[in-house]
Amino acid sequence: MKYPDLDELSEENRILKEEVHRFAAEIIRPASIKLDRMSPEERIKRDSPYFGVMKKMKKLSYHKLHVPSEFGGPDLSALERYIIMEELGWGSLGLATAIGVDQIPFVNALLFGPDELVEDLVKPWLEDEECRYHGCWGVTEPEHGSDYLLCFRDEEANKFGKGNVIAQEEEDGWVLKGQKSAWVSSAPVATHCGLHAQVKDGKAIYDGIFCIVPLDAGGVRKGKVADMMGMRDGPQGELFFDNVWIPEHYVVVAPTPFYGIFFDQLLCLTSCGMGAFAVGLARAAFEEALTYARQREQGGKPLVKHKNIKLKLYEMFEKIETARYFVRKTMEHVHRKILEEKTFDAFPRHSRAAQIYAKKIAFEVANEALQIFGAYGLSSDFIIEKLFRDARALLIEDGTIEVLSFDAADDVISNYEKDYYDVEDISGRYG
Ligand SMILES: Cc1cc2nc3c(=O)[nH]c(=O)nc-3n(C[C@H](O)[C@H](O)[C@H](O)COP(=O)(O)OP(=O)(O)OC[C@H]3O[C@@H](n4cnc5c(N)ncnc54)[C@H](O)[C@@H]3O)c2cc1C
Repeated sequence: MKYPDLDELSEENRILKEEVHRFAAEIIRPASIKLDRMSPEERIKRDSPYFGVMKKMKKLSYHKLHVPSEFGGPDLSALERYIIMEELGWGSLGLATAIGVDQIPFVNALLFGPDELVEDLVKPWLEDEECRYHGCWGVTEPEHGSDYLLCFRDEEANKFGKGNVIAQEEEDGWVLKGQKSAWVSSAPVATHCGLHAQVKDGKAIYDGIFCIVPLDAGGVRKGKVADMMGMRDGPQGELFFDNVWIPEHYVVVAPTPFYGIFFDQLLCLTSCGMGAFAVGLARAAFEEALTYARQREQGGKPLVKHKNIKLKLYEMFEKIETARYFVRKTMEHVHRKILEEKTFDAFPRHSRAAQIYAKKIAFEVANEALQIFGAYGLSSDFIIEKLFRDARALLIEDGTIEVLSFDAADDVISNYEKDYYDVEDISGRYG
């Protein structure tokens, strides 16, 4: 897999890319194909290929990509993280997303939570190689999908109504009531949820907390596993909270003005990850189409000799290359601001744009790749059909591309000429 990279990767980075690619090709992809064809109930069993891959990923420390080295993280640069994430996305969007959301409760606890929480949960998660600790990220609610992405920058945020999950403070902890929607990735297999909840007497959804909820706590119930068109290799499902008590120190971000900034910056981080996965998926689709078009003969010559196919392949290449360097550059900026300098002032408009652009090109590339396969592309005998379905899911997952675009547009309109908020000077909700 030695193709030229505009960053002229060092020998070390090339070796890293090759190693992760081998893992993606030999372990992740075959498991993802099996999972795609299994029933939702079979997919979440402890002996399913899902847990087989997760355990191997944990042994290789892929869950520690964002963990600082003083806590045993692998001390990677943003470029190295990008390289790993693109390859994981190449292997499977569902399994890459699963190892992505696994990190959300625990890495945020490490960055923002109290020491007691790090001792209780983060350290065991770091050391776990058996997937006994597995995270998910509970944002979307039945009545609030896109609302959760739009309310923070909207001047009349209370028009979005009350959250579906409400947190009430008690003397020694918090009580949670309500429901997250059926699309929470890994919820059916997770042990812990990084949960966003609105505080009881808060004005709107943005008056919230981010906390960790052990999913074996009294009052937690998991709904049925969703049966989706795409991303079937990473299970989604709903979560119900019926007077669930958590101790005070399980609250990672309290209801302060920082909660909004935290959430916005977390979306900057996840946008870069989704962008890298999308480029990986696009590359997987392109490589399938290129190989097929070299082999398949029609009109007396291989498909690659036909001008329309040539043009399609060139355009796919152009899209993937532009997306890769945009996402990579954005990831370098975002990781520096959040993980290294800890100034939490990464630019939302750029991170949203990187995610949106990469998702769009992934769908366009997968769509054109399938077209190159003709009818074979629609058959489940070829992986291109799965890649197309996964690319379609990408346009909705982690925010629809339209709503992410509205959010980026608001940031462009308000902040185009200046850097983002001054983190030193926070007095109330920003906007
Ligand atoms: C595969 C997959 C994995 C996911 N994983 C997770 C996860 O791990 N955790 C989690 O919490 N959620 C997860 N989600 C949920 C995802 O974030 C939401 O589906 C997404 O934010 C959209 O919300 P919704 O589905 O409720 O759509 P809605 O918000 O109901 O939107 C419906 C349509 O209306 C448009 N729309 C919505 N609001 C506006 C507006 N104000 N103005 C104009 N148009 C608007 C949208 O663009 C969309 O086309 C996942 C979803 C998928 C598909």
